[in-house]
Amino acid sequence: MNGRVGALRRSLEEPLLVTNGTNVRYLTGFDSSNAALLVERDDLTLFADFRYAAAGRAVEGVRFVETKRSLAAALAEQLSGRIGFEADTVVYAAYETLAAGGLELVPRRGLVEGLRAVKDENEVDSIRGASEVTTKAFEQLAEEPFLGRSERELAWRLEILLHEHGGEGLAFDIGLGAGPNGALPHAHPSDRLVTEGDLVVVDAGAVVDGYRSDCTRTFAAGTPPPELAQAYAVCLEAQLAALAAVRPGVTGVEADWAARGVIEEAGFGGAFGHGLGHGVGLLIHEAPRLSTESSDTLAAGNVFSVEPGIYLEGAGGIRIEDLVVLREEGPEILTGFTKELVQVG
Ligand code: ZN
Ligand code: ZN
Repeated sequence: MNGRVGALRRSLEEPLLVTNGTNVRYLTGFDSSNAALLVERDDLTLFADFRYAAAGRAVEGVRFVETKRSLAAALAEQLSGRIGFEADTVVYAAYETLAAGGLELVPRRGLVEGLRAVKDENEVDSIRGASEVTTKAFEQLAEEPFLGRSERELAWRLEILLHEHGGEGLAFDIGLGAGPNGALPHAHPSDRLVTEGDLVVVDAGAVVDGYRSDCTRTFAAGTPPPELAQAYAVCLEAQLAALAAVRPGVTGVEADWAARGVIEEAGFGGAFGHGLGHGVGLLIHEAPRLSTESSDTLAAGNVFSVEPGIYLEGAGGIRIEDLVVLREEGPEILTGFTKELVQVG
């Protein structure tokens, strides 16, 4: 089979039942909402129901077993002995069904996720492609007027641009908040019209070959008030400090503090209420985590966001987010749009 399955096998103490759909896809290329992959020392068995049977039989290197719609019930009948399961994925009802079948179930965590965190160059190419789509869409949006258009209209326009530049879809629902709404880190676009002096936080990404990109830029509609312009400068300094700090071997906590320290030093402590970044790949949020609570250590091949923010309630918000692939010598930035404060009309 492939190197991914081989690497997973080396970490196993007992057969592993992979039921996380993204993990099944990563290991086999098989994309299904109702599948399981049993990884044993010498065997690889893929289970899915009739809807996916033709695609399942076409997967190379696996034995395919067609099941009834209730996957857990089918697995309980067919499997036996001591089996690891993905504790972060299996819901309690499925666990009950599997346990009732007499399986000895061993909870395992993060085994496939740990492999997914280190990208190969094919994966990096896909994420780079998704990032280039995003950069082109941001560049075109920046040429258009913002003033007088609603957040919702601008978000829809950006969605169209992401498709026009080759995105297969959105990496996630576009976040777009203007003025005070920008102070909400996860702003859903509203009917509020952009007005003179607003900062507009735009967070978007595309999908290419199933892989995602993630980019945030903050635009100035007209001339921002001095306090927000200063906060922008601090946020950018923090973002650059974090980029300078990330190296293989640096912990997620240390990376986070490289940015957080700059923001606190400048008197905006408490205004950066989320972590510095997260891994991106087949999913928009995956390992590693860069935050005050992270237990991860960065490694070459990680792809993650670097996205400090400053959120001033009632006034506005700033977030500057790049997506990077970590190399031995430091980060390669995949998101090419300028980080200077761009003024839009
Ligand atoms: Zn983002
Ligand atoms: Zn992000």
